[in-house]
Amino acid sequence: MTEIMYYPVVDADSKGTVRFAMNRTTDYRTVANHHSMRLEETVPNVFRFCYKRRIKRNDAISIHCPRCSAVLKRITQSNSISKNGSEYRMGLYECKSCANK
Ligand SMILES: [Zn+2]
Repeated sequence: MTEIMYYPVVDADSKGTVRFAMNRTTDYRTVANHHSMRLEETVPNVFRFCYKRRIKRNDAISIHCPRCSAVLKRITQSNSISKNGSEYRMGLYECKSCANK
């Protein structure tokens, strides 16, 4: 069985256009309670960006890979809202640089 990995995501500048993923954990509750943003990795090297606030567009945001700090590439545009409506699920990202290793 594969465990889901969670990565808290923090802003790296005041505009919120550059974001860094931090150390991974399997503890969903801690990440969800302390961070408004996170990446979820259910398939190796594919990350879903989850955010508790509404954002109109996230095209301009660059999120850096938690492993190699390269900028993640967005691979799906689909956004959705979680079942209980408390957060936004902002599409999938992958790291081209880790994929080529
Ligand atoms: Zn990477």
